[in-house]
Amino acid sequence: MEGYCEICHKWRTLEHHHVYGNGFRNKSEQYGAVVEICRECHDDLHHRHPAKYKWLKREWQDKLMAWNEWTEEDFIREFGRNYLL
Ligand SMILES: [Zn+2]
Ligand SMILES: [Zn+2]
Repeated sequence: MEGYCEICHKWRTLEHHHVYGNGFRNKSEQYGAVVEICRECHDDLHHRHPAKYKWLKREWQDKLMAWNEWTEEDFIREFGRNYLL
């Protein structure tokens, strides 16, 4: 699928990225915390500069808390930790 990468905003072939990985992939899917990004950003995020992308998890914690009317404790219950700290 082609479209605008949600990180660099370039028109590219897109890949799914689960915002919260490992044990939280299914929950990311369930709550819609999946972004469409290009191969370059995806590689960067997983392999080259993961620390640069902490904002993505923070941003999505904000969104999920707003959409679901969760407190920070609710978020931690679902996703294991608080990324806002
Ligand atoms: Zn990109
Ligand atoms: Zn990914």
